[in-house]
Formats: sequence, C-alpha cells, structure tokens
Amino acid sequence: MHAPNQVLLQEDILVGADLSAWIARGGGEGLAKALHEPAQVIAEIEQADLRGMGGAGFATHRKWAPVAASPDGDKYVICNGNEDEPGTFKDRFLLEHTPHQVIEGALIAAVATRANHVIIYVNPHQPRALTVTREAVVQWREHEHFAAIEGLLGGPLSLNVVPSSGLYIGGEETAVIATVEGGFPFPRRKPPFPAENGVHGAPTIVNNTETLAHVPGILRHGASWYRALGLGNASGTKLYSLSGDVLRPGLYELPTGTSLQELVFVHGGGMLQGKEFKAVFTGGPSNTLLTKRDLDVPLDFDSVRQRHSRLGTGAMIVVSEGTSIVRKVAEYVNFFAQGSCGQCPPCKGGTFQLARVLNRIDTGRGVYTDLESLVNLCRLLPGSGRCGLIDGAVTVVESSLHHFIDEYEALLMA
Ligand code: SF4
Repeated sequence: MHAPNQVLLQEDILVGADLSAWIARGGGEGLAKALHEPAQVIAEIEQADLRGMGGAGFATHRKWAPVAASPDGDKYVICNGNEDEPGTFKDRFLLEHTPHQVIEGALIAAVATRANHVIIYVNPHQPRALTVTREAVVQWREHEHFAAIEGLLGGPLSLNVVPSSGLYIGGEETAVIATVEGGFPFPRRKPPFPAENGVHGAPTIVNNTETLAHVPGILRHGASWYRALGLGNASGTKLYSLSGDVLRPGLYELPTGTSLQELVFVHGGGMLQGKEFKAVFTGGPSNTLLTKRDLDVPLDFDSVRQRHSRLGTGAMIVVSEGTSIVRKVAEYVNFFAQGSCGQCPPCKGGTFQLARVLNRIDTGRGVYTDLESLVNLCRLLPGSGRCGLIDGAVTVVESSLHHFIDEYEALLMA
C-alpha cells in the first residue's frame, strides 16, 4: 500500500488509536504550525486547492472562511464520517486506522475558524471506527496542543464523538446538523447554509472525513508540496474505493487526476475473468455513468465534471460486459428508495415508482410503456426534493437509459 506520494495511507501512520505513535511519525506538526500562525491557515488550504471529498468537490476554504469571519461565540466543526452509500469505504478505513490524522485536521479547522466545538460524527454500523475514534479523542484531550487551542480561544474546547443515525440520508450536511442537535436526520433546504445557520443556529462547518485527513499534511509540508502531488491541474492525492468486476478491488490512494484506465487496469489488475469493461458507477453511485469512451478521463473533480459526471466520493463500481446495467441500476434505485426520509412526497413516491418499474423490467415483466414511465419520471422528479437524493436517483436512471437503452429493450416483452 505504501508509495512515496501517499499522504493518508502510508503504512507507518496507520497506528490506530495510539496518539504517541502518530506524534512520533510527524503527527501534530501541522497543528503546531496552525497554532503558530492561525490567520494563515485558510490561505494555505486555499492555495492547496483542497476540495470536499464527500461528493461535491466544493473548495474547503470557502466553507471555512465565513465561519472564521463570524464573531466569536459558539462555532462548530463537524467531521462527517457517516459514509453509507454503496461502493464507498474510505472514511471507515481512515477512522479505524489513522484517526489522529482526521482529528488533527478537525482541530486545525477549529484553530483557523476559532470554533469551540469539534464533533467527530461516526456511523454506528462501523463499530470499530466508533471505538477507535473514541479512544483517539480521549488522548487528544490530554495533549499539550489541545490546551494551546483553549488558550487561543480564551475558553474551553469541546471534542466529542457523536454516533450518526446510521441512515444513508444522515450523511447529508443539514441532516448531520439535525442529528447533532438530537433530532431525526431530516435534511432541510439550503440556504441558509451551515456556515450561517448550523448547530443550534451557530456557524458550522461540516467536512468529510477524508477532506480533514488531508489537512495536517498540507499544514506540515505546505500548499506547494500538496499541489505538486496531483497530476495536470489537479492537486494532492485522492482515495478511490474500487469495487465491482475487477481483479483487485480495494482502497487506493493515488495522485488526483490518475486516469480511470490506470485505476482499473493497472492498480485494479484489469477485469475479472478477462471480461470486457462496460461502465463505471462513480462516487455514490448517484452520478452519470462513465463508459469505455471515458477510460482516458483523469479522475479529478473538474475533468470528471467535463464528462457531465461527478467524481463524488471517489467510489468506482466497475461493471463488465457480463453484468446487467439494468439490474445494477435497479439495485441502486432500490437503495435510494429505502433511504428516502419521506419528507418530500415526490421523492418518496418517485423513487419507489422508479424502483418498481426497474424491478419489473429487470425481471422480464416489463412492457414498452415502462420505458416511457421511466423517461417521464426522469423529467418530472428533479428538483422536487429538499436534498439531492431524488436528483441522484434520477441521474443514474437517465444515464443508463442514455448509454444502455439496448439492454432495457432486450428485456422488454413485445
Ligand atoms: Fe428526504 Fe428525499 Fe426530500 Fe431528501 S429529497 S429530504 S431524502 S424526501
């Protein structure tokens, strides 16, 4: 797993809950630099072009800056470790194996924004991640840097682990806030954004676990070092959760901008049983499918967007010629239908309707009018929900119809 350009997964920093082992390997240096020059931290993060690794690829400094600019008082930094979508398994690995790196990143965010509450939000269906993170938090509270942050803030800093609801929708950032406040993880419309109105109305940052794990290295080695790790215009490294019909599925940390071809055929060892590559469900899987024509795409946020898809979490679920796209799409839409929180009737009803039609086609009971139903639902449903779940479900259906209509037609009864 070790490679010179690895930032997050070097074997010698996978120390579990042992803070002294993390410090012995250079951990804590990034936080010490942040404490020395707190006003410079956000500029460093901006120069590093650190993006949100939870799905949207939003520039991290743009989440931090408004919280830093808001007056002193209660402010929150939340590390989002809910991770529950099919094919993504990076945040759990980080929390289980290098939790101090993640927590240090969250503490640096607190220093940069003068936040006095840091919450590590962990999926309770990942009990090892929960246990290790709790142990790690106890050790950080006793570290000298923790007292130094309290000195900087002029008051107490709270650092706690909060179990998430374990529901898929619980990872949406407004649902994260609702859970931290003690409620059901109902997403709400934005604006207002968490930076203006977060936990109990206080300015709040919600960052993905991987995003925060990159922060200590950026502070320790500098933005230029981090930028140079990426390929082309991309910056840093990225965790790719590779699964599906490949020989060597697993978690890979590679320079951001590594091509899909290289990920699948070099690191992943190529296709299972020598089958033909057909497509990849990316980052969720609630995005537009990447197909053979996209094998050359550099896996960075901007390049994937230029192909009308999204890198998302970096999950890549590979599908071979032997695997039915309709079945995979039906599986994922069933997942979204089960995951809908039910607040918006078009989402609850629409995802179930999509799933019902897809299941019918997949099991050979579909008729031609089912295709029309799918097309109509894809036209009517987008934008009808308070969060992006319904749009994600529609995107994957629409994309599969666009690229693989022949597979649908072959399953239809005359
Ligand atoms: Fe809930 Fe769906 Fe509405 Fe999102 S779009 S808030 S998941 S009902």
